[in-house]
Amino acid sequence: MLALSPTDRLFFLTGAGVSAESGIPTFRGVNGLWRNYRIEEVASPHAWRRDPRLVWEFYSMRRRVAAPAKPNPAHFVLAKLEQKLQDRLFLCTQNVDDLHEQAGSMRVVHMHGELFKSRCDRCTRTPFHDTTTYDLPAELPRGDCGGRIRPHICWFGEMPFELDRIFRALDECTVFIAVGTSGVVEPAASFAAHVRGRARTVYVGEEEPANVSAFTECHLGRAGEVLPTLFCA
Ligand SMILES: [Zn+2]
Repeated sequence: MLALSPTDRLFFLTGAGVSAESGIPTFRGVNGLWRNYRIEEVASPHAWRRDPRLVWEFYSMRRRVAAPAKPNPAHFVLAKLEQKLQDRLFLCTQNVDDLHEQAGSMRVVHMHGELFKSRCDRCTRTPFHDTTTYDLPAELPRGDCGGRIRPHICWFGEMPFELDRIFRALDECTVFIAVGTSGVVEPAASFAAHVRGRARTVYVGEEEPANVSAFTECHLGRAGEVLPTLFCA
């Protein structure tokens, strides 16, 4: 059990390992390939300009894979803990699925975007809920302004979402907990080092992360099994 005081502020960063425990593959695992394309070749502004159909095929596949997935005990522990701690808990995820929301988390910051949202690539129309999949060759959707509708995802070479809010929360937290994240993808990989020395840094996941030296505590195991033992939510 993790000893918490009534004034502690918790920052959770969740990564691919948490979704993997619900059966959603990471797409960066085995060789990082999809149909012989490197993921960077189908998830970048360059790919979108060159071949938007290919990009939509990739995200249609990801929507189909994620749609039937259900939250696991790790998601539920975080949702319950949020109910208890309210704004003393900040949940930032690198995952683009909606499993945290399905488990009941109310305020999830999706720094890499959301798989079930789309937006216009030309105007400032608010990103909207979208579960459409495209069996190509289909006509790709356009907005009223004539722009193309694209996945609401932070692609390679794009700026992650809500970094201002995220760094404010990092500066306020007293306990930083990374769950199921490999510690490779920036800027999230530097969060632990950013707060270290001022906040406790805790890692939970099946494998030691690349940035293990930034953590004061490391709990190896499945997030769905370890988190319930650390937090009685
Ligand atoms: Zn538009």
